[in-house]
Amino acid sequence: MQPIKCAVIGVGHLGKYHAEKYAASKESELVAVCDTNYTRTQEIANHHHVAAFSDYHALLGLVTAVSIVTPTTSHHTIAKFFLSQGVHVFVEKPMTMTVEEADELINISEKNNLVLQVGHIERFNPAIVACKPLIQNPTYIETQRLSPFNPRCLEVNVVLDLMIHDIDLIKHIVPAKITEIHATGASIITNDIDIANARIQFDNGCIANLNASRVSHVTERNIKIYHQKSYIFADLKDRTLLTFQKNNHEMHDVLNTTHPVENYDALHDELTAFLHAIKTQTKPLISGVDGRTNLSIALAITHHIEKKIKLAEFA
Ligand code: NAD
Repeated sequence: MQPIKCAVIGVGHLGKYHAEKYAASKESELVAVCDTNYTRTQEIANHHHVAAFSDYHALLGLVTAVSIVTPTTSHHTIAKFFLSQGVHVFVEKPMTMTVEEADELINISEKNNLVLQVGHIERFNPAIVACKPLIQNPTYIETQRLSPFNPRCLEVNVVLDLMIHDIDLIKHIVPAKITEIHATGASIITNDIDIANARIQFDNGCIANLNASRVSHVTERNIKIYHQKSYIFADLKDRTLLTFQKNNHEMHDVLNTTHPVENYDALHDELTAFLHAIKTQTKPLISGVDGRTNLSIALAITHHIEKKIKLAEFA
């Protein structure tokens, strides 16, 4: 089968790597890149010896699939254009700004039989892949996702930018319905939520406690998954995996085990999964419906926090 003709729209911090993966893969052919910043698009296009565009409409007829790696405010308009014109779409997280926009993209992709995959890359993190078979029936989950302040991606709050990765993971890990959400947060540097905590209750009794900050002095990404008599610690940044198990022979003893984690490229695997779904005409691992669910939870958390911030203003 011929390589799939791909283009990347938005070749900033992350889009540059999308272009690299398509250019390097035997499954795809990078035919063009597009960015409203023409200097940037030319720089990346020259590097890969492909066409450069500053208007994504010009890609029509040249591509079978696109990656949309622009700021979230433009995801819906660009994805709608390509899905309506018969082009498969990989769109970065968060999928769109609103649930209605996400629904519209899902409907068009289904009607036109097109793959719509959303960029929840942590599912491809080797530490998560290695930890998945060890998870049974968690009773409690804690996640920590802290980043130093960065002026990129400020069009959305920290819940939609960072916490949404962990929302995707806990939905993947806990096979149950969400019954309650409590959340708090604060704006520190921007006028939007920069730091957030959410407590999510599932109908099987499991509780997930999620922390996200974009105003930290350190970078941390980890998840702790507690079971009866054991827990798993996965470091998603350093890609390490530890388990702590109660020693059945000693009352207060705990057995620690370090598990091997393969060191592979999560973005390569994520985009290979997208290309595979196109080739095999199958549902992608992280579909538009998954992206929409994650977005709706992130928006519910945002709503809780904003309601509390408003009340605090009147206190
Ligand atoms: P960035 O600002 O570095 O890059 C965005 C690029 O898009 C810029 O070069 C900008 O000029 C270009 N652009 C803006 N509007 C455009 C348009 N209409 N047409 C073409 N180009 C346009 O941002 P980034 O950090 O690369 O983030 C981009 C997206 O990727 C965001 O949705 C973000 O949430 C997501 N992201 C995901 C992850 C992840 O782990 N999955 C990590 C970082 C960013």
